[in-house]
Parts: sequence; C-alpha cells; structure tokens
Amino acid sequence: MEETISAIATPQGMGGIGVVRISGEEALRVADAVFAANSGQKLADTEGGRFLHGSLVDSFGEAIDEALALVFRAPHSYTGEDVVEIQCHGSPYVLRCALALTYSAGARPAERGEFTKRAFLNGHLDISQAEAVMDVVSARTKGALAVASGHLTGRFSKEIKKLRDALLTMLAHIEANIDFPEDEVDDVIAYDIEKNIHAVRTKIAEMQKTAEAGRVLRDGLPTAIIGKPNVGKSSLMNAFLREERAIVTDIPGTTRDAIEEVADVGGVPLCIVDTAGIRKGADVVERLGIERAREYARKASLVLMLFDGSRRLDAEDEEILTIAKDREGSAMILLTKTDLPPKTTAATLSECAGGLPVHAISTETGAGLEELSIAIRARVYRDVSDGAEGTFVSTEREAKVLREADGHLAAAQDSLAGAMGLDFVSIDLRAAWEELGKLTGEALGTELLDEIFSKFCIGK
Ligand code: GDP
Repeated sequence: MEETISAIATPQGMGGIGVVRISGEEALRVADAVFAANSGQKLADTEGGRFLHGSLVDSFGEAIDEALALVFRAPHSYTGEDVVEIQCHGSPYVLRCALALTYSAGARPAERGEFTKRAFLNGHLDISQAEAVMDVVSARTKGALAVASGHLTGRFSKEIKKLRDALLTMLAHIEANIDFPEDEVDDVIAYDIEKNIHAVRTKIAEMQKTAEAGRVLRDGLPTAIIGKPNVGKSSLMNAFLREERAIVTDIPGTTRDAIEEVADVGGVPLCIVDTAGIRKGADVVERLGIERAREYARKASLVLMLFDGSRRLDAEDEEILTIAKDREGSAMILLTKTDLPPKTTAATLSECAGGLPVHAISTETGAGLEELSIAIRARVYRDVSDGAEGTFVSTEREAKVLREADGHLAAAQDSLAGAMGLDFVSIDLRAAWEELGKLTGEALGTELLDEIFSKFCIGK
C-alpha cells in the first residue's frame, strides 16, 4: 500500500488562501482528523467532486482557522488516489499547523514531485506530460506556456507514439519474414523498410530542429545589452520590461551584481544578464574594460549592441563594434534615440558594422520597438513554425533520446545497405523503439524517474 502523503501546495509566504494537499489510501481519514465540517458530515462519507465548509481543528477539536475541504475519490483525482485538498487562509503559520496536524494523523511529508510521480505511476500522465507539469508552473511567456502545455496535454507524446508505432509495424513486418534464409529476403520488403526508416528519420530530424527554439522558450534566451554610457541601455531594458513587470531572480551563489531579469519580448523570455550593472548606470566599457564587455557578451546568446544616433560614432563605439564582428551570429545592432536629430544614420552604422543589419529605435516614442521584438522572435523561430510550439523538443533529455534513436536507425540502414539480414536490422529497430519509449515513460528506470521528479517543488 502506498503511504499517505501531504504537503503545502501553494507558494511560500502569505496569500489569500493556502492549500494543503493530502493523497493516498488514508487521505480521507487523515483529513477527517484535522477538519471538522460545520454540518458534522465526515469527509469519509462525502462523494468525490464535493466540498465541505468547516474548520481546521487541532487534536483537541479546537478550531484554528476557517477552511474548505475538497474531496476527490480514486481514480478521479490528480494522483489517481483518494485526495483531499484543504483550503484555509494563506498564513504561513496556519499552513504549517495544518501540515503538522496531517502528520500527527498519519500522513508523511511528500517528496519533491511525489504527487505528480504518483499520477505518472498510476497512468494518469505519461513521463513527458509529468515533466511538463513543472514547466507549466514556471512558464514565463506565452511561447513558453505553449511549449509546456503541448507536452502536458500529450501533443508531444502523440508525435513520439506515432514514430514508435511506425517502428513497431516494421518490426512486425520483419518478424513475419525472418524465417526465410537471408538470400531469399524479398527485395521489396527491404525496399519498403528502407523507405519507412527514412521517413521516421526525416521526422526525427524535423523534431530536432525545434530543440533550440524549445530550449529558449523554456529556459529563456540569455541576453546582453551593451554600449557606451548614455546610449540608452537601461531605457531599452525598461521598455522591454514595461508590459510584463520584472521578475527578478537572484542567481544563487553569486553577488548581487549578477541579477537576471526576464522580459517577455514577443513571447520569447529574454533573460537579461547583469541588469544590476545596467541599472546602476555603470558603464560596461569604462568600468570593466572592453575585454570584460567582450566576456559579458560571450556569455549571452543574444547581444544587443546600442549606438546613439544623436551623436557621432566615436572610438568607444568602434571598440563595441569589434565585438559585433566576433559575434556576428548573435549580435543585433541597434541605433537608438531616432527621435532626436540624427548625427549617425542607420546606413553609416551598418557600413561600420561590416554590413550587419541595423534596427533603428526610439524608446522615447516607441518607434521601432515592435519591429525589434518581431526580429528577435524571428531569430528564435528561425527553423520552426509558429503555432507548433506544443510539439517542440524542450529539454536536453528529449534531444538526447532523439539523437540516440536516430543513431540506431542509421545503423539499421547500414545493415540493410550491407545486406546483413533482416534479423540485424530488427535489432536496431527495436533499440530505436525502446529508446523512444523513454519519452513516453514505458522504458524508464527508477533512477531516472527519481532524477526527473527531484527537480519538482514540494506539493507538486
Ligand atoms: P544607459 O547609460 O546606456 O543605460 O542610458 P540610459 O538609458 O540611462 O539613457 C541615457 C539618457 O538618454 C537618458 O537621459 C534617457 O532619457 C535618454 N534616452 C534614452 N533613450 C532615448 C531615446 O530613445 N530618445 C531620447 N530622446 N532620449 C533617450
């Protein structure tokens, strides 16, 4: 029997309401020990899909807080087990009391991701869906949410299942013919199988192309904004952050100088690094030297280089431009303050930048900002189609599985080409089929499962 587990399912800190979630065979009994309905009705006598109004009570029956208890009966719950969610006021103290009371009543603390793990083990979610739960919770932009919810609703898994089904059909086909001696193997069968392997590999290659965009949408695009003092770095950052208020995250283990802010630019989460440096008005070139600016740009996947259109380009700008030439693939050249009388034109700047395109903007009037956000989005969606985010490969684990499966399929093609016999081919096809199973969860070891769920937060 699975033990009954409980955890606080709402974020730390104060909130309007807080939720304690209890799951397992004893969930109703545990909940009855900590909750008393005003009507006197027991949760154990309550149908699934109902809630009762009452109080959170201590072991003496004293009311601690007003509460609601929501009852879910197995298998119609998130975990597939009996679940009770107790909603009380979101005071950290009340929630801690409620949790401690569930422990006294026989529940044990839930591990990270244990609710979702149980949902997976009970067949309510496959592994790609389970993994996506945390991604949905932490999605920061529309694009990120589209990737995560595509995984959660099973769109991604469906694509993988199609590939596995195609492989299974081939295996069955081979199985039916394998008893013939090698030299009698029908050329037609070999031809068919080669064609089908080719189709599966083409599909895998298409999916692999989405990995870069998927990773960026899920994890954010590390972005540097560089330029000499007063070119408009912090004004641009504020323009980016205007709509979606800054989500400031301290990167653990670093000083407060390494603060990252996430801006939603055209649905792409831009993780703007060293915002502390920008915010303080510190000048990257002067304060850190051009080498440090180069280093800072090197850490970013997108480097926005700003040049002031209301001033002439000078030696400092030239130095910044040398960085652009090194980082051609990730640099975007921006001409700022286009609302002021021009001293430097886009054409001049582009010429100095070795012909790189120039985006002209004014944070004062907003001119060019929409075009800039479209251009950034277009970079991320370069190889992939808009609207298909739900089937994007979004983690390194997924990318690796696809690479390995593709390797097995290449080996199968080699065996076919070398007329090695269909039993050889079938070994590789089976290996590819099993590998892809790691994405739907059929072929996962407990170690990998533990690793996946350890990345979750408590209460999920
Ligand atoms: P930073 O030192 O590169 O971060 O530059 P700031 O963003 O602090 O901007 C320096 C000065 O230029 C400030 O006075 C801004 O108001 C002004 N500024 C920034 N962008 C624009 C713009 O697009 N148009 C105009 N007219 N002024 C701007």
